[in-house]
Amino acid sequence: MTTRRRFLKLTAAASLAPAVASAQGTGQGTGQGAGRVVVVGGGFAGATAARTLRALEPKLTVTLVEPNRIFTACPFSNGVLAALREIGQQQFGYDGVARAGVTLAQTSATAVDAAAKSVTLADGNKLSYDRLVLAPGIDIRWDALPGYDEAAAEKMPHAWKAGAQTVLLRQQLQAMEDGGLVVMSAPANPFRCPPGPYERASLIAYWLKIWKPKSKLLILDAKDAFSKQRLFQNAWAQLYPGIIEWVSLSQGGKVTSVDPSTLTLVTDFARHKAAVANVIPPQKAGAIAQQAGIADRTGWCPVEPVAFESTLQPGIHVLGDAAIMGGMPKSAFAANAQAKVCAAAIVELLAGRKPVDPLLINTCYSLVAPDYGISIAGVYRPDKGVLADVPGAGGISPLEVVGGFRAQEALFADSWFKTITAETFG
Ligand SMILES: Cc1cc2nc3c(=O)[nH]c(=O)nc-3n(C[C@H](O)[C@H](O)[C@H](O)COP(=O)(O)OP(=O)(O)OC[C@H]3O[C@@H](n4cnc5c(N)ncnc54)[C@H](O)[C@@H]3O)c2cc1C
Repeated sequence: MTTRRRFLKLTAAASLAPAVASAQGTGQGTGQGAGRVVVVGGGFAGATAARTLRALEPKLTVTLVEPNRIFTACPFSNGVLAALREIGQQQFGYDGVARAGVTLAQTSATAVDAAAKSVTLADGNKLSYDRLVLAPGIDIRWDALPGYDEAAAEKMPHAWKAGAQTVLLRQQLQAMEDGGLVVMSAPANPFRCPPGPYERASLIAYWLKIWKPKSKLLILDAKDAFSKQRLFQNAWAQLYPGIIEWVSLSQGGKVTSVDPSTLTLVTDFARHKAAVANVIPPQKAGAIAQQAGIADRTGWCPVEPVAFESTLQPGIHVLGDAAIMGGMPKSAFAANAQAKVCAAAIVELLAGRKPVDPLLINTCYSLVAPDYGISIAGVYRPDKGVLADVPGAGGISPLEVVGGFRAQEALFADSWFKTITAETFG
């Protein structure tokens, strides 16, 4: 597994090398390759894209539009719920992005005029661009689950955008009496971080086992299968027997409405009254995507698989969770990888050259307990107009292990978080 992962990393680095070399070779001193790129959204995709663009072509004028001074990362935020980390350890500023020569516009983008190639900002300014990168992450579909609106989220937090919601859910867990029932709901695919709900269930169960041992956790799922399912379920049987119960779609797990006044989650077959309710609702691309006309009827943004340019609006690249990336899941690892590929492709396009076909990797680590990690990796390349999974190239943690294998994967997860946040924010 380790050897394979090291090989995959080398392959990814190699796939970027020709584009980087040629951009430096022709862009320098000639003025070729220079231009204006606006990046909307300073998360894992957008901040990485902005920094990489400047690293590849220092002549580019790159502006990053992001309303928050501090970014709060979702990966590892499940550890905050289980009191393994503090919310401050999830937070990153933009000084490193500014040091890369990126201009920061600390406001929101409110409109995109694709024909005029300009972005309107909430502070009233307008930015013109040669290429636009939209990486706004997700928005909650407030109309998808009857009873679940913004007010309901203050009682039944989703905590699927890290920050105040994460802190609220942690406070609710800590205030709960021992013996209380925690109910989580997981949405149908696609959604941000496919293994995320199950990592969350695991870490909450870890915390309950220590601090509220009479309590239980129920997962109501709108799916019959989930990422790393056998690994999670084996670990639950071993570590948290009698604590976690998972109800699949075909067992009646789909939540059809909620009642925030009584913390009740309703399915076709039952009403579950929770002591703490964590509703992870259906999602869509961040609102600016709809406004810019790059989201289709699914709510997500279709892109071509080489430079991740919108198939609906030329000149606009879409990265990260907002985009439909074929087989690639919505993860921070994927968002960061797509951003590097896209930055290299934009440098090529601005210089009038054709970007090379990329090879991308995703790895998703999950913690089942602080010293128990599992992972799944995939490799993706363009095939028939989409980013397709390369058969046989990925990997998943083995079901049977000896020695400190799971503890080592937990350490890999920790290193991954440090690396990805350093790469993204500098
Ligand atoms: C609980 C949980 C655990 C997770 N664990 C992992 C993990 O272990 N590994 C992993 O790889 N991934 C994990 N993820 C998934 C990961 O968080 C996302 O896939 C990743 O954040 C996507 O990056 P992004 O840049 O597309 O979106 P984001 O990181 O959400 O960034 C979007 C940014 O755009 C900004 N924005 C939105 N609209 C506008 C606008 N109009 N103008 C300006 N700015 C705007 C937002 O403020 C935000 O800063 C997890 C997610 C959750 C919820």
